[in-house]
Amino acid sequence: MEIQNLMQEIRENALDKMEKRSPKDLAACWSGEDILYSGKGNAIFIVLPTQGCAWALSGSGGCTMCSYVADSPLENVDADELIDIFKNSIGRQEIKEKTVVKIFVSGSFLNPDEVPIKARNEILKFLKNEEYVEEVVVESRPEFITAEVLKECCESLGNKIFEIGIGLETSIDYTREEKINKGFSREDFEWAVKTIRTTTLDCNVKAKAYLFVKPILTSEKIAIEEAVKSAEYAESVGVSRISFCPATIHKDTLMELLWKGGSYQPPWIWSIMEIIKQVRTSLNIPIIMDTAGFGSRRGPYNCKKCNSRLKSMIIESNLNQSIPEDFECECKDKWRTEIEFCDITRSTTNLVRKK
Ligand code: SF4
Ligand SMILES: [Zn+2]
Repeated sequence: MEIQNLMQEIRENALDKMEKRSPKDLAACWSGEDILYSGKGNAIFIVLPTQGCAWALSGSGGCTMCSYVADSPLENVDADELIDIFKNSIGRQEIKEKTVVKIFVSGSFLNPDEVPIKARNEILKFLKNEEYVEEVVVESRPEFITAEVLKECCESLGNKIFEIGIGLETSIDYTREEKINKGFSREDFEWAVKTIRTTTLDCNVKAKAYLFVKPILTSEKIAIEEAVKSAEYAESVGVSRISFCPATIHKDTLMELLWKGGSYQPPWIWSIMEIIKQVRTSLNIPIIMDTAGFGSRRGPYNCKKCNSRLKSMIIESNLNQSIPEDFECECKDKWRTEIEFCDITRSTTNLVRKK
């Protein structure tokens, strides 16, 4: 496939440029307020440095917007080292009442080649014994979600909530295949969600869909429509929660190349507000809008006067699951113009310059 050849070339160049860093240097851990299935609580985020996303390192070159593989040590990190890093990281955080632990591996937690089975089980057993941990959230591509793996995880984690986030990105197969190079179909996603929902287990396994807002070669207007349709689709398939990831420009990706060439721009924050309004009206499950990179040069952006205010409103709306109040700023008319004319001009970048 054309896109895979291109991605492979971009990825190889990026990997050549990478500075090698040790697994311990790449680990990260922080905490903050978050929304749990039981209401507001605390989240502990842990980044575990595994050898890197198998999809990105395969001949496919990986996804067009993602550079997570550049945050990997690109070497085999054995089970004992991963367990050690995990325990050290979480040991530095206070585990408060009502805590969710979110583990990021920049790939698939359920792929035994990325997270060895011994490490996966030890980490989950550790969390089983933490009284205040209510939920554990991991990420995985659908091909690693099997009844057997879920059973093993549940044996280790006991009866806590175990949420698996799947990067569906969009409900439209053409976009996922040709614009994102994700390498799996709706059918694969549906099969994985069904496996999660139908495997009889003692613990409470749930599926979450990650949806990407504004892939490359997508106009502002279509990005809004596609995000809303994708959320409706994910709910209908049976996910318990949705997390939107509005585009930010990662280094050494196809998205960055197009952005530098003036052929791509991350979404307006007004578009993000519009998506929140629509999905909070039509859907019944919790929806989180990631605000990473908001207001920065490489992220969703309106204007200097309203970026921070809108970001705070979105964070608040995540915690309360509420629809943000209407808000006006002089830049909103530029966004309206963009929405009105982007399809006539077939523009996938911004018609009006943001300041
Ligand atoms: S988005 Fe996920 S599957 Fe795609 S390259 Fe990045 S880590 Fe791998
Ligand atoms: Zn503004």
